[in-house]
Amino acid sequence: MIATNQNLHAALKQHFGFDKFKGDQESIITSVLNGIDTFVIMPTGAGKSLCYQLPALVLEGTAIVVSPLIALMKNQVDLVRAYSQSDHVAHVLNSSLTKVQIRQVRQDIKDKKTKLLYVAPETLTKEENIEFFKNTNISFIAVDEAHCISEWGHDFRPEYRRIRQMIEAISDKMPVIALTATATPKVRSDIVKNLNMVGHNVFISSFNRDNLYYEVRPKGKKEIVIRQIVQFIKKHTGKSGIIYVQSRKGTEEVAKMLNVNDIKASPYHAGLDPKTRIKAQDDFLMENVDVIVATIAFGMGIDKPDIRFVIHYDIPKSIENYYQETGRAGRDGLEGYCIAFYSYKDIHRLEKFLRDKPVAEREMTMQLMNEMIAYSETSACRRRFLLHYFGEEYTCERTGLCDNCKFPPKQILQVQTEMQNALQAVSILKENCMIKDLVDFTMGKKTKTILDFRYDEFELHGCGSEKDEHFWNSVYRQALLNNFLVKDIESYGLIRMTEKGKAFIESPQPFEMTLNHDFEAEAAEEADVASSNSNSAALDPLLLEMLKDLRREIAHQKNIPPFVIFQDPSLEEMATRYPISTDDMANISGVSKGKATRYGRKFRKLIEGYVEEHDIIRPEDFVVKTIVNKSGTKVAIILSVDRKIPLEDIATSNHLKMDELYHEMGIIVSSGTKLNLDYYIADNVDEGAMEEIEDYFKEAETDDIDTAYVELKDEDITMDEIRLIRLKFLSDYGN
Ligand code: ADP
Ligand code: MG
Repeated sequence: MIATNQNLHAALKQHFGFDKFKGDQESIITSVLNGIDTFVIMPTGAGKSLCYQLPALVLEGTAIVVSPLIALMKNQVDLVRAYSQSDHVAHVLNSSLTKVQIRQVRQDIKDKKTKLLYVAPETLTKEENIEFFKNTNISFIAVDEAHCISEWGHDFRPEYRRIRQMIEAISDKMPVIALTATATPKVRSDIVKNLNMVGHNVFISSFNRDNLYYEVRPKGKKEIVIRQIVQFIKKHTGKSGIIYVQSRKGTEEVAKMLNVNDIKASPYHAGLDPKTRIKAQDDFLMENVDVIVATIAFGMGIDKPDIRFVIHYDIPKSIENYYQETGRAGRDGLEGYCIAFYSYKDIHRLEKFLRDKPVAEREMTMQLMNEMIAYSETSACRRRFLLHYFGEEYTCERTGLCDNCKFPPKQILQVQTEMQNALQAVSILKENCMIKDLVDFTMGKKTKTILDFRYDEFELHGCGSEKDEHFWNSVYRQALLNNFLVKDIESYGLIRMTEKGKAFIESPQPFEMTLNHDFEAEAAEEADVASSNSNSAALDPLLLEMLKDLRREIAHQKNIPPFVIFQDPSLEEMATRYPISTDDMANISGVSKGKATRYGRKFRKLIEGYVEEHDIIRPEDFVVKTIVNKSGTKVAIILSVDRKIPLEDIATSNHLKMDELYHEMGIIVSSGTKLNLDYYIADNVDEGAMEEIEDYFKEAETDDIDTAYVELKDEDITMDEIRLIRLKFLSDYGN
């Protein structure tokens, strides 16, 4: 068939119902139709499938599509079938089929009904299949997710390396189209070499996603990270987002913490049973749930166009992963926030997992991770860094679409001489070092490598000893980013010189640079701010007095002691944070949702009036609820009391001392949950004593136990009796 523009458009309309080709689709399809090997690099969602589906449909014979995942194949076949309304047109051939099904597939191919045959690489290597394909008219072979060929990709599949062999076994002139969404220059050359694509056409779309905002934040304590995430999501209420977490347990934990803060979130990971998993996914697509907290198991094949944020709670293992995962935000071209939390501790954790891996794999994974570290720590434009990684040069116009461009680092350094020295070091050491050694060399360290190779005998050794490691790391990173130097991935990351680098040494130019982020320091700073915030948010003494008056008034009306309503620390927090909604109120410690509704209204009204009258700017920084430590223990206590288990036994089975148990029960009842201790009191407290104590608390100014003990000392009453009756009292009156 002759591929004219006209009949290609007609075919597009006929088979897919689309009016226009996207991006390079048309040229790619023409290349395939002309029997030329074709290499396609296009971001996820750009429409790669159509580049082989359409030619397959219009060419004679059957096209073989190699794809790594059975689940994805099934999905694709369903889509193609849906368009054509005939099941014969596309088939899957893999280990999941029965003998009968396999026979049917072969028959359909022989009958020329099947245009697309999806196979796993394993299927392709089977002798009987090769024999069958030899005698079949195969139009071409498409290798989807072609980065799986390369060990330097993030998803290496050894079986992919044998595809070429199989192609040759089937026919000596079968065109190949290879497609991938992520490929560094190194991975690209691996693909071309391995598939032996001669005289091929290459189509590279820009990877730039200019609607995405990139940001990396230091990852400090868990509470601080959660607080930041909650605050971010509350600013984007009702919008869809994904939070990626490394571990399965982590996804559940984070989801729970979001739930506690009234965010509709579900965990998702491969360990959940299929029903729960599918429900989570459906809920997300149907927008019953706003946020999915997932391991990397989530996302493949998810085509939700309006995901507004992707947060990495843990740093991903490679830039490829990061780019693919963040790429799920803003598919509709509208805003998408990509926020990653980074701490070097996480990297150490990842390194630990690598220990048992073979050396080569470990080295490779470390390389990928090092790039991720460099990305996180860079103070240069993040988009420029990412695109540079994928072999694309990007000139940043400071549009503020990453944290570094939006908030440029304050200190700009002139580093012409330092840059020259750094480059000279590379050349003197014969382009035979990794960044770490170069930094050590420049700083004048005497490490084992440096002494072994006698690098310390060079004059340049120690030429930069007055600057620290952080500084020199930044210089070398900048040199890479500016293509003065390149990293030779082939030889485990040795740093080589470029022509541009040589030129700089010969005639150095003024060079400006900012230091990389020092996230350890930034996280520590943030923790300081966070803790001083919570201490320094000033308590408003006037409001506190008014709140206490109100409490007294209500107590009087209801004939209960004031502390039963709210305890002092709760009032103090109210006088600091000015809660004016029920939700805000329920966020005050010691105030349950129940209490917030029962007693909260009058307090809220008071605060609201006060805020208005005094023009108070309420702290936006609302309290983020945490799952109370030992919340499991509290639940266990409540259940045990319900089942009337003696307190001694409850203490033992929860590994608590009696004191601690009383303390826990105190928190339970004063934040609004009833505990019926009558069964235990009946056996352990004398009836007379009980009345005495109750009478005392009804009149008391405070629920303090020691005060009660002193007041009641003449009555022959034990401390434990006071404790018990106080709990009963708070529970009965307060709830
Ligand atoms: P990729 O494999 O590159 O990630 P897909 O092939 O899965 O992307 O295509 C992504 C989406 O784009 C699909 O929903 C597909 O139907 C759609 N699409 C592809 N080509 C076109 C086109 N020419 N016009 C409109 N939509 C298209
Ligand atoms: Mg695809």
